[in-house]
Amino acid sequence: MIAVGWRQVTKRYADGHLALEGVTLEVEPGRGLAILGTSGSGKTTLLRMVNRLIEPTSGTVEVWGRAVSDWDLIRLRRSIGYVIQEVGLMPHLDARANVALGLRALGWSKSARRNRSEELLAMVGLDPERVGRLRPHELSGGQRQRVGVARALASRPELILMDEPFGALDPITRRELQGEFDALRRRLGTTLVMVTHDVREAFVLADRIAVVERGRVVQQGTPEELLAAPETPFVAAFLADAYAVSRDQR
Ligand code: ADP
Ligand code: MG
Repeated sequence: MIAVGWRQVTKRYADGHLALEGVTLEVEPGRGLAILGTSGSGKTTLLRMVNRLIEPTSGTVEVWGRAVSDWDLIRLRRSIGYVIQEVGLMPHLDARANVALGLRALGWSKSARRNRSEELLAMVGLDPERVGRLRPHELSGGQRQRVGVARALASRPELILMDEPFGALDPITRRELQGEFDALRRRLGTTLVMVTHDVREAFVLADRIAVVERGRVVQQGTPEELLAAPETPFVAAFLADAYAVSRDQR
């Protein structure tokens, strides 16, 4: 079964702008797909169709073999972890409560929620006793992002969506968190769909990359395939920055 599939997906926004045109893509269970492209290319639009924050104009999007339009919307969203750059933590709740936020609705008991949030904070490298008691404004940007990741993983989702999750961090914190998240995701076997304009991020976190340009997928493949044979000048230019990372990290 395919974890996520887009089939001939087109999106025309109400103002007439054609944001996506005939996109077909698949993600296999347990794998990571990076949707890579410049700003405005349609990446976020593609991602937000998976948890049905955006509906396609035509075509279908499937999650675990079933059209998202056939899913119960609440169940669909609860089954998917979602991480965005702004994180969206509740300002009046401490880190532990933020991580546990979605678990209550899923019927977890108070003690189970507490144990799970402490376990998750430790998993993303935060001290549950100290940092767990801090509110978002008392955390650094990197710590907030870690809390966001912990929250997305708390209910053990089989699928996680990330939209430029580490973009606001300084380069060193970003690389560190990317590496830790990647190891964690692979250990848990979680399927990942992520959106980024950072080719290095795509290389670290994804098994496959789909390059989008003005609403179309211009090439897809493994990082090695894209590096070895970029099919358009746009892909080649985009990947130029990746040679350094391919030397350093792969
Ligand atoms: P990306 O995430 O790659 O930067 P988006 O998917 O957010 O791109 O947007 C793709 C294009 O669609 C952009 O040109 C953007 O301005 C346009 N767009 C996004 N949302 C809307 C909307 N609600 N109405 C009209 N145009 C939109
Ligand atoms: Mg975007």
